[in-house]
Amino acid sequence: MTRSVDLVIVGGGPAGISTALHVHAANPRISIVVLERETYPREKICAGGIGARAFRWLDKLGVEVDVPMVKLDAIALRLGGKTITTRSPGLGVVVRRIEFDHALANQARARGIEVRDGCGVETIAIGDEGVRVTTATGEELRAKAIVGADGVSGIVRKQASFAPPVLRAQVVELDTEGVAQDEPRDTVVFDFDSQDLNGYAWDFPTIVGGKPMVCRGAYVIRTLGPDDARARIGAYLRARGLDPMSYRHKQYAERGWEPGAEIAAPRVLLVGEAAGIDIATGEGIGQAIEYGAVAGPYLAKAFERDAFRFSDWTEVVRRHHLGFQLRIRHACYRWFYGPKRAAVERVMAQVPSMFQIAVQDFAGLPLSKLALVRGAGQFLRAYAREKMRPDD
Ligand SMILES: Cc1cc2nc3c(=O)[nH]c(=O)nc-3n(C[C@H](O)[C@H](O)[C@H](O)COP(=O)(O)OP(=O)(O)OC[C@H]3O[C@@H](n4cnc5c(N)ncnc54)[C@H](O)[C@@H]3O)c2cc1C
Repeated sequence: MTRSVDLVIVGGGPAGISTALHVHAANPRISIVVLERETYPREKICAGGIGARAFRWLDKLGVEVDVPMVKLDAIALRLGGKTITTRSPGLGVVVRRIEFDHALANQARARGIEVRDGCGVETIAIGDEGVRVTTATGEELRAKAIVGADGVSGIVRKQASFAPPVLRAQVVELDTEGVAQDEPRDTVVFDFDSQDLNGYAWDFPTIVGGKPMVCRGAYVIRTLGPDDARARIGAYLRARGLDPMSYRHKQYAERGWEPGAEIAAPRVLLVGEAAGIDIATGEGIGQAIEYGAVAGPYLAKAFERDAFRFSDWTEVVRRHHLGFQLRIRHACYRWFYGPKRAAVERVMAQVPSMFQIAVQDFAGLPLSKLALVRGAGQFLRAYAREKMRPDD
């Protein structure tokens, strides 16, 4: 049997549900079906760190995600044997995705949005008149437009013939008990101490079935060369007196946003990790929610005008705060993981204001352009001094 709706969203993670919530908020008359392959509560391999910025978008819609969470007040950066800690009370939280994504989907359902789980999309045909989708449950849906919110190796990107992704990361994580070297439980740690690692290791306080634990992991940017996240996390654990063999390793990939890459085609919009997230750190939940916040009013306008070419979506994202953040982080990734890493690290330790600005952004605090320009100026001056050092 064939059903017709206005909009099909493929993927019921934060990008898909945020898009559904924001489209519904902009125009509740648009009929939406979210198709999610897995059945909630479904696991998503992820450390679950979310900046308060993401919750500001949800707050605006009155969406409250009531799940166990560890509240964060600080971010610590380990660089060149030093730890730089920036405090900003209430800057974010750590959740378990199995709980968070389920609660978010329930918030959409409570608003009357149809979220179908256990319903994977198998084929997508895009024509001049609309989109036809078939599911693993044997259904056929017709829609005016489709949103690909189906994550890192989603079907929409493939079947709508987008260019293959370039920026990829490999990530391994596991949950352990705490150790003496750990920072306080209101602090997440990004450890860049291994300079030969094209990425970082992390310690995030988490809560598993009511028990305080620490999610640790290794993020490796594969685009920069071969590496092995499993071996990296093994070494990281052993340095903390933990036996890697005692913990269940969870491995997954990530896709970075690429400047200039198209993230839309006629009748097709990509959001969240299907479009690309921050390659520098692999942060993607807040970005997924923000993609939805941008896509909501954008799609509502497209339905109002009955115009689904979406030719300006890539540019709309680029000009939004989301695109600005993704562009800055993309530039940082090239700079930080490049041949001048040692100098960049020394400068970062001397000019913590740039790190403070990044923490403010994560926390959703307003970004002062003056502070940004001043911080960038300080950074560039310190970098120029470092470059003049004879040992670099
Ligand atoms: C180990 C690891 C740790 C991470 N830690 C963090 C972190 O601490 N903080 C952070 O911000 N980000 C983190 N990330 C990144 C973050 O998990 C992702 O960027 C984020 O989940 C992207 O959200 P999304 O909604 O775009 O995609 P997803 O969350 O991947 O959701 C996509 C959904 O689409 C569904 N789907 C796929 N194919 C189909 C289909 N054919 N039909 C129907 N449904 C389909 C999937 O089942 C899935 O539910 C981490 C990633 C990894 C791998």
